[in-house]
Amino acid sequence: MASSYNPTSPDIAANLAGVRERIALAAREAGRDPAEIALVAVAKTFGPDAVEAAYAAGQRVFGENRVQEAQAKYPDLKARHPDLVLHLIGPLQTNKAEDAVALFDVIETLDRPKLARSLAKARDKLGRCPDLYIQVNTGGEEQKAGCAPEAAGDLLARTRDELGLPVIGLMCIPPIDEPPALHFGLLKKLAGELGLDRLSMGMSGDYEAAITVGATSVRVGSAIFGERPKPA
Ligand SMILES: *Cc1c(COP(=O)(O)O)cnc(C)c1O
Repeated sequence: MASSYNPTSPDIAANLAGVRERIALAAREAGRDPAEIALVAVAKTFGPDAVEAAYAAGQRVFGENRVQEAQAKYPDLKARHPDLVLHLIGPLQTNKAEDAVALFDVIETLDRPKLARSLAKARDKLGRCPDLYIQVNTGGEEQKAGCAPEAAGDLLARTRDELGLPVIGLMCIPPIDEPPALHFGLLKKLAGELGLDRLSMGMSGDYEAAITVGATSVRVGSAIFGERPKPA
């Protein structure tokens, strides 16, 4: 219940309303229907109470970046709220592929053939498969996950066409020191070339810019739940 949420924390319901309003404005300014843009509320580092507060305010789609953290948090939440939809937005190791397929409804971080094979194996074993996004490293950053833009077509062919996995779109995280719109544009163009129509791009600092370029899904954390504690 919202009332059990720590009252000294930011007001999640009000923050959510503000973000939804800004999404609608950005969409209308771009001549788009706000209903085509999904809001993924990124609850990483925040406890189940924060998720409950957002759920009570009408939010249904949540994002997490770590499989283990999500495993600790969501089984209870999902049992209470069967319509809760969970996205994995952080890097996935092959040895966690089965856990991820069991828990998540969408995995946004497919970025290599080996992971695709592990996901296919998990699908065969569990008889379920999340929808998938291919994560593209649009900035070519060495330390960042995601496949190179020029490798996305090949990965799509292997994943969707050879393994029969449900790839629905592309996802990116722009470099922090470059204009994000450039990277959003790159992802949009690549998706057009590949015939994919879902685009997961835009975070608290740049989701309106992402919507202007064509995002169909934005991943917003701190603007809803407040600042995260810095990792030690
Ligand atoms: C944490 C995270 C977000 C949300 O970031 P905010 O700046 O808090 O909105 C979005 N996408 C990914 C991949 C993340 O890890």
